[in-house]
Amino acid sequence: MQVEFFREAHIRIFGNTSGLKAVSLRKLERLSQRRSRSGAAVTPELARSLAEVSREIKRQIGLLIDRRGHVCVTIVGDARSLFLPDLSAYRRGLDRLCGLRLVHTHLHSAGLDDDDLTDLALLRLDMVVAIEVAAEMLEANPTTLASRMKRFDLSKQT
Ligand SMILES: [Zn+2]
Repeated sequence: MQVEFFREAHIRIFGNTSGLKAVSLRKLERLSQRRSRSGAAVTPELARSLAEVSREIKRQIGLLIDRRGHVCVTIVGDARSLFLPDLSAYRRGLDRLCGLRLVHTHLHSAGLDDDDLTDLALLRLDMVVAIEVAAEMLEANPTTLASRMKRFDLSKQT
């Protein structure tokens, strides 16, 4: 029920949104309305849109996606980090995962970092996925956008 409330209240975009153009905000809002098929960590289409908007605004973007594939929360960070909002509404008890996965962009190519692993552990996320936005490739030809996806999946171990 808490999760439904969250969605109905349209509290969707958190974080460092100041200074963004209206057109970028609209793209972020559209990202928030997307669904990712629940079988996949993230669909290629959603990963691509995420990478494109992230490159455009030069900030990391994160989506918290539930197990049905709904985007529950969209977070905007800065070029190197992302600060997640309070997720206590999603908490299901100490021994259970929270039912959300974090899919987020990296504007640097460094794989999952300590912050990602800390969020994974402390927030009891199902999974953390980092999409590395390869800047030089995007500059040359936006239509050949490639996102390398790395995943660190704890949900199968619990
Ligand atoms: Zn990260």
